[in-house]
Amino acid sequence: MKRFSFLVFLFYSLHLSAQVKFDDFFISKTLRVDYFHSGNLITDMICFEQMKQEAFWGGSKKNLVDIFDYGNYKFSVCDSSSNKEIYSRGFCSLFQEWQNTDEAKKINRSFYECVVFPFPKKTVKLEIFSKDKYMKLTKIFEMYINPNNYFIKKENPLRYASYKIFDSGDPSVKVDVVIIPDGYAKEDLEKLKKDAKRFAGYLFNHAPFKENKEKFNIWLVEAFSQESGTDIAGQHVWKNTIVNSNFYTFDSDRYLTTSDIKSVRDLAGLVPYDQIFIMVNSTKYGGGGVYNAFSMCSSDNEHAEVVFIHEFGHAFGGLGDEYYDSDVAVQDYYKKEVEPWEPNLTTLVNFDKKWKNMLDKETPIPTPNTDNYKDKVGAFEGGGYMPKGMYRPYINCEMKSLYSGFCPVCQKALKDMIDFCTK
Ligand SMILES: [Zn+2]
Repeated sequence: MKRFSFLVFLFYSLHLSAQVKFDDFFISKTLRVDYFHSGNLITDMICFEQMKQEAFWGGSKKNLVDIFDYGNYKFSVCDSSSNKEIYSRGFCSLFQEWQNTDEAKKINRSFYECVVFPFPKKTVKLEIFSKDKYMKLTKIFEMYINPNNYFIKKENPLRYASYKIFDSGDPSVKVDVVIIPDGYAKEDLEKLKKDAKRFAGYLFNHAPFKENKEKFNIWLVEAFSQESGTDIAGQHVWKNTIVNSNFYTFDSDRYLTTSDIKSVRDLAGLVPYDQIFIMVNSTKYGGGGVYNAFSMCSSDNEHAEVVFIHEFGHAFGGLGDEYYDSDVAVQDYYKKEVEPWEPNLTTLVNFDKKWKNMLDKETPIPTPNTDNYKDKVGAFEGGGYMPKGMYRPYINCEMKSLYSGFCPVCQKALKDMIDFCTK
C-alpha cells in the first residue's frame, strides 16, 4: 500500500513539473547540434561536428518536454545548474535502420544527424540516448553547451526565397511543414511552385489533417539544384542536386533518402519549422520517412500522394509499418516479448498502454481477420514486418497498404501529435 501511494505521488509530481516556462530558459531562435552517428551492428557512437544558431524557433513554446516516448533515440536538454529537463524529443535515424542490414555486420559507417532545440539563455547539458530492442535507454553522448560559446556558428544562411504557401498564423502554435525541393533546376521554378502546392493539397485530402487544416503552416524554400532529377544508383543515374537525395538506400530501389542532412537542415533553417518534407523531382516510385528527421517522396509518380501521406505518418506521427508481407529486408526488427514504442503496433505484452480502450467490448483479442471485423478496431495478427507475434489495429490502413486511409488508431496518434505541436 505504501509503495502504491509513493508511485501515485511520484506520478503526480512528475506530471505537475513536466513542462517549464519557455522564457525562463530560451529565446526564440534555434540551436542546432550536428554530429556523426557512427558504428556497426553492435556499437553506437556520436561524434560532435558543429553547432549553429538559426534565426527562428518554429516549435511549441509550451510543450517542451516530450510526452510520447516514440523513436529509437531520445535527446534531452537539462538546465546545468538545476539538472532539470527543459526540452526533449524522441527521434529515429537512418543509422539505426542501417544497423539491421548485412553491411553493418562487415563495416563501420557514419551518418550525419542533427538535433535542434530552442536557443538556451544559460549553460545546458545535452544528452543523447539510444533505445535498444528491449526499450532500455543508454546514454551515448553528453555535452555541456554555453550559449555564449563563440564557436556557435552564426553565419548567413543560404539565400533562397522562402515563404508560406499555406498560412494559418503564428508558427509556435501551428505545425510548420517546410518543403525542401531537390532535383529542381532553375528552369524548373514554375514546376517547383506548382508541385509544392499540389503536395500541400495532398496533405489536406487526408484525415486527420483535413479537419485540422487551420493548425498547419506550409512553407516552401525555393532552392535550386544544378541538375533536374535524382540519383538512381542501380540505373547508373547520377545528378548534382542540392540535398543529394538518392534511391537505392540500403540497396532498396524504391527507398528514397538523403545522407546530406547538413544541407537539408541549412535550407530548413531559413524558416520556422516542425517537420521537413523533401520533394524530389522524379517520376520513379518511392519515398522514405524517419521519425522527427524528414519525410520524402518523388514528385511525379502516379502514387505520389499516398506515398507522401504514408511517409509523413512515419516522420510526423512516429507510426510504424503495419505490413508484414513485403520484400523489405529487415531481420529481427522487433522482439515478440517486448512492447514496441510505435503507437499503432503491439505485441500484446502491454496492450493496455496502446489502443485497447478503443476496442468494442465484444471484440476478441487477438481479433480474427474476417469480414465481421472489417471496419472495427481490434488487434489483428501481422504487422511491423512480422506475420506472427505482432498485431495491428485495423485490417487495412495507410501504414499497411496505400490508398487505405489512416485507421482510427493512426488518426488518433496523428491528432495527438498535432495537438502537442500546436499548444
Ligand atoms: Zn493504422
